[in-house]
Amino acid sequence: MEINWRLILFHLVFWLGHAALWTYGFFKQKNDPELAVLNSIGYSVYISRGAGLVLGVDCAALLVPVCRNIVRFFRSTFLNRIVPIDENLYFHRWMAYSMLFFTLVHTNAHYTNFFFVETKLPVLGLKAWQVHYMAWAGTTGHIMLVIMFFMYSAAKQEVKHKNFEFFWYTHHLFVPFYFCLFFHSFGCFVKSSVDGRCKGYNSNYGTVPIFCIYIAERILREYRARQPTTLSKVLFHPGNTIELRIEKPSFQYKPGQYLFLNVPSVSKLQWHPFTISSTPEEGFVSVHVRVVGDWTKKLAQTLGCFEKGMTKGVAVPQVCIDGPYGAPAEDLYNYRVAVLVGAGIGVTPSASLLKSVWYKYYRKAQMPLQKLYFFWVARNKDEFAWFQSLLASLEETVPTSFLEIHTYLTGNLDVDDIQNIALNNDGEADPITELQSRTHYGRPDWRRVFESVRASVPSSVGDACEIGVFYCGPGALAKTLGRVGNAVSNSRVKFVLRKEHF
Ligand SMILES: Cc1cc2nc3c(=O)[nH]c(=O)nc-3n(C[C@H](O)[C@H](O)[C@H](O)COP(=O)(O)OP(=O)(O)OC[C@H]3O[C@@H](n4cnc5c(N)ncnc54)[C@H](O)[C@@H]3O)c2cc1C
Repeated sequence: MEINWRLILFHLVFWLGHAALWTYGFFKQKNDPELAVLNSIGYSVYISRGAGLVLGVDCAALLVPVCRNIVRFFRSTFLNRIVPIDENLYFHRWMAYSMLFFTLVHTNAHYTNFFFVETKLPVLGLKAWQVHYMAWAGTTGHIMLVIMFFMYSAAKQEVKHKNFEFFWYTHHLFVPFYFCLFFHSFGCFVKSSVDGRCKGYNSNYGTVPIFCIYIAERILREYRARQPTTLSKVLFHPGNTIELRIEKPSFQYKPGQYLFLNVPSVSKLQWHPFTISSTPEEGFVSVHVRVVGDWTKKLAQTLGCFEKGMTKGVAVPQVCIDGPYGAPAEDLYNYRVAVLVGAGIGVTPSASLLKSVWYKYYRKAQMPLQKLYFFWVARNKDEFAWFQSLLASLEETVPTSFLEIHTYLTGNLDVDDIQNIALNNDGEADPITELQSRTHYGRPDWRRVFESVRASVPSSVGDACEIGVFYCGPGALAKTLGRVGNAVSNSRVKFVLRKEHF
């Protein structure tokens, strides 16, 4: 098994950081002479306060990776080279796991505290149930626990895959959750025994501004999305895929980025992410939408797309787009040698990048990229039709010394196709794709592919070279590419995987 050192380092820093914060909170409480009365309860107070401090920080940090515009801004800075910014949702998830862990610690320790408040500190005249259900901390804490139960259950990967909307709407319970958090310390349970001053952590100084930034970001997204937008063309492609061409003058994007699409007549509230398959030079924004579930099916119906093609006389629906947002594919031009891999509908970012390569090459624009290998893995031969004309013009314009195109067909062929291949295989064009480069049948042998890429790195690239492997498609293939890339890397050539999966 491959050891992912970056991941190990992340978890070491993440958990050691949390442990250090908890320890700091523990001793801050224990060594504070002004809290001597409360501290007479013992260890459970130190434990709960340490966990409370961690939770204050986590609740603020949790929202940062989901502020899409902030993430996009950081992508364009030097930080993108140091921090894996595209893994923002991974960070968000681990923050949530940490919150769950420290919530359990905090709550259990507090239950012990409240019991001892009644038995060990009768001077305060408080009953455990009063602290549990009548005090601000207890009441808001219990509401937050219930909210967390729903949010965490609905965020499970299985639920998310089966019913994304349920996950999405339940996740909006974050609003009452944060309001409860803001008032959690309102009753000032932790007071100085000297002058009665509140001795909370003041975590609202962190959580309130970040919450406001997130809400402002949501408002900005809505505002931007409602700028004039026209759906100018709808094309129905084989393989249950619809291409939408949209015109929106205020929408400035780079090849490889993605957007969120909303079609009010399909659903007013649902926003679905799609990779942009056009390039800015084309003057419009296009997305290729594969019909897979409820929303995409309803969209296909609304657009009048059926098996036999477009139905005439269908009113063009209003569409809204928000974005663009950054994706790994945006960094293609940072490498001198790159490998683009698209599988299934994951070929869309490659299409955008290849179009931009075509324009750059045609205009003889300067670019650091000196060699590009494109691998397209499709299960169904019809999928090659999505970008056939693009690849054909690339073959015409861009020499193979700069761009190599490799197509792989992994699904079964029917008898007619086999006969067609047998009859036409000797022709100039490939019988499946009609391109000059030949289709390979079956899955690529990635080790051989990477070894041959390594061997053919142009000498002009110099002694040491990082090869960017840009992948979009199913998660399983991403793992294979990462593993093989690491195994084939050597002191001269290093394969760096930049992955995106839907
Ligand atoms: C960054 C990104 C880029 C994408 N680019 C493309 C593309 O170019 N072409 C394409 O066909 N598909 C793309 N997808 C996938 C596309 O968003 C889903 O196929 C679509 O949202 C399915 O919606 P549905 O209700 O029809 O299907 P469902 O059956 O409800 O969902 C199918 C899958 O899509 C996920 N999904 C559903 N709704 C959303 C949502 N609002 N946000 C995120 N994920 C969702 C579900 O978890 C499930 O795994 C992309 C996804 C991401 C995250």
